[in-house]
Amino acid sequence: MKISSDAQSRIVFVCVLTCLLTQTACAEETTDSSLTAGGAAITIRLPKSASDAFRKLVDAWVRDAADAVIAVYGRYPVKQVTIDVRMASGDRVGGGRTWNGRLIRIRVGSEVTRAILRSDWVLTHEMFHLGFPDTPNDLDWMGEGLSTYMEPLARARAGNLSDEAVWASMIDGLPKGLPAAGDQGLDHTPTWGRTYWGGALFWLLADIEIRRKTGNHKSLDDALRAIAAEGGDGSQTWSSERIFRRGDAAIGQPILEKLHERMGDRPESTDLDALWQQLGIIQRRGTVVFNDDAPLAGIRRALTSGKSGRQ
Ligand SMILES: [Zn+2]
Repeated sequence: MKISSDAQSRIVFVCVLTCLLTQTACAEETTDSSLTAGGAAITIRLPKSASDAFRKLVDAWVRDAADAVIAVYGRYPVKQVTIDVRMASGDRVGGGRTWNGRLIRIRVGSEVTRAILRSDWVLTHEMFHLGFPDTPNDLDWMGEGLSTYMEPLARARAGNLSDEAVWASMIDGLPKGLPAAGDQGLDHTPTWGRTYWGGALFWLLADIEIRRKTGNHKSLDDALRAIAAEGGDGSQTWSSERIFRRGDAAIGQPILEKLHERMGDRPESTDLDALWQQLGIIQRRGTVVFNDDAPLAGIRRALTSGKSGRQ
């Protein structure tokens, strides 16, 4: 049943207490409403006491996150999901958790504004867990890394995050995913950094490699769509081998499998500065600017636009 636990801060890895509270604090009466997006029926569950204004804010927020995920999958990755919103004090989105690919529980402060919800990453992150199988043997880096990697790209594709903000978040986050002393590879080092950002780095490198090898005709999107089309959503548990095999079949080359051979059992490091240079991403005076003459600039643009680099 457990798939993920993503708290307000990415610093919190697993908060057992929050999970227990989320599971048991069900006493308040709720009402359901529904909306459709990308072929899915999305039920929004709110406390009966929620105001109409709060309900409207939540509706728009759920639509934004759904649009982001649809921008990657081409449709919503599952047919039905319930978003169970627990109201909290304050003006922030709190911890989110996805259950069995069919239920997301998430805390939202009663004083949130439209602007705050538009900048939220947590719900989009959780929605990516809906469309990807759970994995056995402590391989949480696969699903957590995928949600961490795809969330900003998807929000950019839906028009809710600038390209500059996407890459600034990657520049800030990905160094936390590099192997430290004593690392045993992604499959055997379940620390917070390696799980979320090490996993995100795996999927970024995979996406770039797929696009390079296919002249930007194919991408990680194709692998994810194929896995979901074969029923590999968050209600299922798939082995890593099955996930990589299905993804690679959609790409037509064993790119995921080979990358996993390199990074799964060994502490392979990545020269991130060289990667940013190749993608044409430059940090300047606290912000990010782009070099469109860089060798992988077309791939960088395609990652955030969702379009092929040839378009
Ligand atoms: Zn997660």
